[in-house]
Amino acid sequence: MPGAPERAGPFDCECGACVSREAASRTETYGGLDPTKWQTLCCPECGRRLKTVFVGGEG
Ligand SMILES: [Zn+2]
Repeated sequence: MPGAPERAGPFDCECGACVSREAASRTETYGGLDPTKWQTLCCPECGRRLKTVFVGGEG
């Protein structure tokens, strides 16, 4: 439903890794999204982007 918090994973990567949100590498977002509100989670194994998550509501 709208406004529901993002699930914390885990995220299945195309390389076969199952990456928890805590284990994922966090990078700045692409496309000009506000980095204080959005973070891109990447696979620590292969570096693929897994998901862009909204973090702006956590504080
Ligand atoms: Zn991967």
